[in-house]
Amino acid sequence: MVRFTVLASGSKGNSTVVSGGRTRILVDCGLSCRELFRRMKLVDEEPETLDAIVITHEHMDHINGLSVTARKLGIPVYFTEGTHRAWMRWLTPRRQMTYAQWLEQCRKQAAERQAEAEAAETEGDPYDPEAEPVAELDTEVQPLAATPEPAVEPPSNRPPSRKEDPTWLPQVEYFQAGQPFEIGDIAVSPFTIPHDAADPVGFVFRAEGVRMAFATDLGYIPPNVKDQLQGVDLLLLESNHDLEMLRDGPYPWAVKQRVLSRVGHLSNEAAAGFLENSYDGQAAYIILAHLSESNNLPELARVTAERALLGRASLLANRLLLAAQREPLSGINF
Ligand SMILES: [Zn+2]
Ligand SMILES: [Zn+2]
Repeated sequence: MVRFTVLASGSKGNSTVVSGGRTRILVDCGLSCRELFRRMKLVDEEPETLDAIVITHEHMDHINGLSVTARKLGIPVYFTEGTHRAWMRWLTPRRQMTYAQWLEQCRKQAAERQAEAEAAETEGDPYDPEAEPVAELDTEVQPLAATPEPAVEPPSNRPPSRKEDPTWLPQVEYFQAGQPFEIGDIAVSPFTIPHDAADPVGFVFRAEGVRMAFATDLGYIPPNVKDQLQGVDLLLLESNHDLEMLRDGPYPWAVKQRVLSRVGHLSNEAAAGFLENSYDGQAAYIILAHLSESNNLPELARVTAERALLGRASLLANRLLLAAQREPLSGINF
């Protein structure tokens, strides 16, 4: 049986389960592990039966629960190399400092080195009967021969353990946009999407002859994406914002510009434009996804898409559904 279950969709977390044959894939891991498992149980999906996680891109709403979930289930994570690297960089942030702060840090380090050198000299004082003999003044003081080795070495002298390394995953697999691959019984075709991330992708999943397309987080629909969204049985498409609500809405100007840009998010109007003009009408289900909670209303997204489909009577057989942020959409079975 083929099943497509959206657990969450929107800027506060994205996760979907795609099942086919004996294989179950989690697409994105934007919910906390606990919330993910809770939602899976609500829709009769067993977290322990997941075989792999595939990631579209490294934005927080797609990877927030990734490490914990992958570790808990002990399953592989599929990324593009660019996304994996960006995710690792995100987990190991470098502190930015001003020139004055840098100078201050250099001064402190020099003072510490000086203090250490002076301490070594004092401890090596040959007139102190308690002092351990020190071979050379510039070597560190050695512990007594009878003293056991410390159980834990100072953190700076050893590589971090798995638990301490936030980027550690049970297994990492790389794929490339444009190069299909398989996970168990599910064929996965990743394609490039225009979005402000390192190497973002959408997917077409195929199992038991059923094709399911997944495209959110894209500033517009370029020809390569239009091609991917044809001949599918299920189309999950972003319908992020209503243009007027975004323009008049609460976001700062710079954020509005980002959302509206060619590497931002797809508006209701752009999604409808695709459905009206470029879509082949094959899908039994169209799911509008990644709706903004600040700049959209489910009814606006629905009406805009419905109007586009009404314009083409042949598309009325397409069932229109809305993915939500706060609750899972019950699974769609084929
Ligand atoms: Zn997103
Ligand atoms: Zn994104």
